Amino acid sequence: VLLPGGPSDFGSLLLSPPVLAGLEAAGFHRPSPVQLKAIPLGRCGLDLIVQAKSGTGKTCVFSTIALDALLLDSPATQVLILAPTREIAVQIHAVITTIGIKMEGLECHVFIGGTPLSQDKVRLKKCHIAVGSPGRIKQLIELDYLNTASIRLFILDEADKLLEEGSFQEQINWIYSSLPANKQMLAVSATYPESLANALTMYMREPTFVRLNPTDPGLLGLKQYYKIVNSHPLPHKTFEEKTQHLQELFSKIPFNQACCFYCVYSIRAQHLAEILTSRGFPAECISGNMNQSQRLDAMAKLKQFHCRVLISTDLTSRGIDAEKVNLVINLDVPLDWETYMHRIGRAGRFGTLGLSVTYCCRGEEENMMMKIAQKCNLRLLPLPEPIPPGMM
Ligand code: ADP
Ligand code: MG
Repeated sequence: VLLPGGPSDFGSLLLSPPVLAGLEAAGFHRPSPVQLKAIPLGRCGLDLIVQAKSGTGKTCVFSTIALDALLLDSPATQVLILAPTREIAVQIHAVITTIGIKMEGLECHVFIGGTPLSQDKVRLKKCHIAVGSPGRIKQLIELDYLNTASIRLFILDEADKLLEEGSFQEQINWIYSSLPANKQMLAVSATYPESLANALTMYMREPTFVRLNPTDPGLLGLKQYYKIVNSHPLPHKTFEEKTQHLQELFSKIPFNQACCFYCVYSIRAQHLAEILTSRGFPAECISGNMNQSQRLDAMAKLKQFHCRVLISTDLTSRGIDAEKVNLVINLDVPLDWETYMHRIGRAGRFGTLGLSVTYCCRGEEENMMMKIAQKCNLRLLPLPEPIPPGMM
């Protein structure tokens, strides 16, 4: 029996009592390896680059560091956290308020596009921790609603996505230059492409690296399958064939919840959701084309188990944590290995078991899949035919 305060206990990390009590209340009794390594370094004030597999509890790493350093007596914003999607920002806010439940007077708010600015202005009167998407945060600083003078900790979640060529780089540069020079910075991600290392040299002088399994991004509990389907000259025929296979799979394996990724046509996704729902698998769609309240509604339905299937573009391929998802379907092969690893990482979270199936057309898609498998050293298996009972 491990005694409280033993080497693998949150108690050994010398956190403030309310943070420790909050972790306990959140049901986080023992730190994961990345938490054990990164939290003490972060509390020392070091700039960190944290890389660990999907679902290993990185949100709790930076949330704990942020909460532990907070001065609650001051209403000033002291921590700024950026995420590449509004949905991830909302999720981070939920984790911080959960872990911060014992911190009296804590004000943490989320600031994302597609919501009223007037509401943000009121919330920023007292906001210790601001979490948001880059566009809205930049706008709030420009409008002078968000005062950055007291920000001491700047956090980038999914840092490689945030700093990817042509995505948010400009906005993040702008935000960064509006922050005080003397601050701590944390960059967090499951994938660490070389481009991220280069981009981060702009912001961090001597970062400390916390990298777990840098060469093996695979998840132990997750079995990965692929299935080759015929390629039809008409794309909708190919989609139809893939979704026939998908329905057969759903009828044979007892999954809890599934995320299906398909990044091409959202009208087709909508149609698939209707078919699945009519066959007894209540399905929701989410994509960047939908308005923000519809998007948040779809996420809430997934997390509260009000639907079995979420059909999504790559909008939710990263960061989203829904603990009952144990099946990931790729209805197309992602264009890069990072997206593949993030998509399948929606299942098998925090060491749980899961399954992924990628449907690839013979030819180009098949080649793309094999390249990803080689690059990431995947244990990728052909989907057994017929699907055996007890595969899940
Ligand atoms: P990542 O960002 O690394 O992909 P998350 O931070 O989203 O992972 O965490 C994945 C899941 O693990 C979440 O459901 C979270 O509640 C859970 N979790 C994190 N840390 C712990 C812990 N120490 N004990 C139990 N569950 C945890
Ligand atoms: Mg995460």
